Amino acid sequence: MATIIDGKALSEKIRAEVAEEIARSALKPHLAVVLVGDDPASHTYVGMKEKACRAAGVLSSVHKLNLDVTQAELMALIADLNHDEFVHGILVQLPLPRHLDQMAVFGAIRPEKDVDGFHPQNVGLLNLGLPGALVPCTPAGVMEMLKSISYTLKGKHVVVVGRSNVVGKPMSTLALLAGATVTITHRYTENLAVYTRQADVLIVAVGKRDLITADMVKPGAVVIDVGTNKVGNKLVGDVDFAGLQEVASHLTPVPGGVGPMTIALLIKNTLQAAKMQHG
Ligand code: NAP
Repeated sequence: MATIIDGKALSEKIRAEVAEEIARSALKPHLAVVLVGDDPASHTYVGMKEKACRAAGVLSSVHKLNLDVTQAELMALIADLNHDEFVHGILVQLPLPRHLDQMAVFGAIRPEKDVDGFHPQNVGLLNLGLPGALVPCTPAGVMEMLKSISYTLKGKHVVVVGRSNVVGKPMSTLALLAGATVTITHRYTENLAVYTRQADVLIVAVGKRDLITADMVKPGAVVIDVGTNKVGNKLVGDVDFAGLQEVASHLTPVPGGVGPMTIALLIKNTLQAAKMQHG
């Protein structure tokens, strides 16, 4: 039976550590969240982030913009937040409406305030293995989960399913930097199971329920399920959780796995951003 990696408990531990560091310091980290439109899921996520900020002693402000906001108006808000010395982190809640240029928005955020780690400078620093990068929260959270089970990636085969800029690519980079041999798979990968069966660590970030079944996993593998899918009122991941419990050595649940870790790492990144800006 697989050991379940409890992301909720681990995230609480990380958030408590951040709260303690903030309480001991003179820093007043402040996260500004930009929320465009009225997507209910985005509002829920932003609410969760605000709550987590409050609990950790991080100030937060939410800047709500109408769905029909122009690119110029959004860029003007980003410029204001870039210049505001009391704001240390800027997060633009995704998804943005189609008429807005997401990459231009990421590129406009001051790299030191880019707590999502999506600015090309942070992406570049991470890929070069240089210090000072703000690392995307979800893959950074996955690394913390592996650390929590004392898993050493050096020499191991990590297979990442999904190649997005938000999860798959930075996840692969972090695993590579940690000394793993990395295979990245995606929509056009033929015979996905051929690759997933070779994984010592299988990280799935697609958004397709039951994409990974027990027969696609090597016995004893560590399986990290990043995916989230709504089934009625329930949230499920990308892997057949019940089936994989018989095969994997460690497994993350959905909900209560990677999701809470993403928020914990956002809080941690906001503290890191504040520290970088205050030297
Ligand atoms: P995304 O941008 O839609 O990327 C999905 C990736 O999956 C793409 O690279 C796509 O390949 C690949 N893919 C699609 N169908 C596939 C298939 N049949 N086999 C293999 N790969 C396939 O999504 P994302 O932002 O990376 O998020 C992925 C999932 O993680 C979503 O469910 C999202 O909700 C969840 N997520 C969770 C958290 C959290 O905190 N828990 C955070 C972020 C994301 P192509 O590139 O070839 O199209």
